[in-house]
Amino acid sequence: MKLILIGPPGAGKGTQAASICERFAIVQISTGDMLRAAISAGTPLGRKVQAIVDRGDLVDDGTVVDLVRARIAQDDCGNGFLFDGFPRTLGQAEALSDAGITVDHVLEISVPDDVVVRRLSGRRVHTASGRTYHIEHDPPQRQGFDDHTGDPLVQRADDEESTVRDRLRVYREHTRPLISFYRNLAASKSIAYTAIDGGNSLDNVRNDIVRALEDSSSAAQKSNNPH
Ligand code: ADP
Ligand code: ADP
Repeated sequence: MKLILIGPPGAGKGTQAASICERFAIVQISTGDMLRAAISAGTPLGRKVQAIVDRGDLVDDGTVVDLVRARIAQDDCGNGFLFDGFPRTLGQAEALSDAGITVDHVLEISVPDDVVVRRLSGRRVHTASGRTYHIEHDPPQRQGFDDHTGDPLVQRADDEESTVRDRLRVYREHTRPLISFYRNLAASKSIAYTAIDGGNSLDNVRNDIVRALEDSSSAAQKSNNPH
């Protein structure tokens, strides 16, 4: 199973990605997590992208596509993967198809801007793993600390309200065009496409996603074995 999750910052992509990947035994590929890991390790890539990520702009397509191509070449991606926050531009989507990398299903999670701003002000993350919490909607067992490692949780520098507003503008300008790009592919039956209302509770969003994935995989099995 190869999936793409598209949605604005704060839509719940990372949160849902973790549970989908566990359920379907596929690998979560979050370009945001990979870039933040490079920044906190102080690698040459991290130093190159830090200012761009902090102000909420997009890292250039070539850098991100190289990162993703190297990641999906690893053995653990054999059973499939889920792209979380990638592709984010038409250039990245075209680079994927030029490289012969196909996906089965695109899930679009939408939420209104005011919900995004509220959600991101309460987001707390465990940088090393990418695990995400919310102070009210999805709190850790011990306030301020990761459930699995006990490490302190942090607030992302780019989750400050004015940066969130900039990221929403970047999303509208560069990422939203991908919605028609993938809807057109779905119309020609090359992929499945489902729009999910991300404004619902965490459990309802998760159930809607699982239902969409199960429906499309049983439809694919039927078309492979019509009898
Ligand atoms: P994204 O990866 O799309 O930027 P996240 O998964 O990090 O979004 O979610 C943003 C914040 O909103 C996190 O703090 C998360 O716990 C919280 N969140 C995610 N989905 C929901 C939801 N359906 N209802 C309430 N809060 C949510
Ligand atoms: P969110 O889901 O909250 O929008 P991400 O963790 O996906 O945030 O991304 C954080 C930042 O990392 C983005 O604002 C951008 O600077 C950079 N980034 C992540 N993925 C990409 C990508 N596919 N292309 C360009 N920049 C990216």
